[in-house]
Amino acid sequence: THTPVITIDGPSGSGKGTISRLLAEKLGWHLLDSGAIYRVLALAALHHDFSADDEESLVALAANLDVKFEAEEDDGITHIILEGEDVTLTIRTEQVGNMASKIAALPRVREALLRRQRGFKELPGLVADGRDMGTVVFTDADAKVFLTASAEERAQRRYKQLLEKGFDANIDQLITEIEERDERDTNRSVAPLKPADDALYVDSTDLSIDQVLEEILTFAHSKL
Ligand code: C5P
Repeated sequence: THTPVITIDGPSGSGKGTISRLLAEKLGWHLLDSGAIYRVLALAALHHDFSADDEESLVALAANLDVKFEAEEDDGITHIILEGEDVTLTIRTEQVGNMASKIAALPRVREALLRRQRGFKELPGLVADGRDMGTVVFTDADAKVFLTASAEERAQRRYKQLLEKGFDANIDQLITEIEERDERDTNRSVAPLKPADDALYVDSTDLSIDQVLEEILTFAHSKL
């Protein structure tokens, strides 16, 4: 039987994470937060003191990464466990995000994580959130979406998110970091951030979460 896949790609702060989670809940499907996998690898690399260009060590680390995604009944969030340690919160810092974006530019690191990501495709369906879900990992997805927003709006959202999680944040620094990260993710030679040819392009700068969800659901239903 066919396992349907919806891919949501876009830059950080575009609302992908929230939209993908709500979409998966609404459909009763599995969710792949592929950025979390890159972040877990980044955190493990930082623990090991590996530098961001030590491709050999990073590939080995990626191949043996002991990471589990565990849905908790009590708080409703998916906990991320790295080598037995709950890293759900620690992978969300900007330091880890920046390391993730650096190691994500290494072709063999991406390659080493491919099978792990494809393993999330299970019945009744999958919502896959990332940068290259529609262009590389699930090229035969039923419905592909590219979700974006202006850099300033994305920095504002990130700022709120970080404060809610109890982290310190500086808005100007966030805008700079988001622009740097966009630049790196968009211009890398392997799996650059770009809309798939057959993706629905959604700019969420002036849209509410409900409006974005509505638009994507309508599109997805027309494709399934
Ligand atoms: O989405 P998130 O901010 O958690 O992703 C962290 C970093 O991981 C991104 O900046 C990007 O460089 C990388 N990434 C990627 N491909 C994906 C998901 C994330 O290269 N599919």
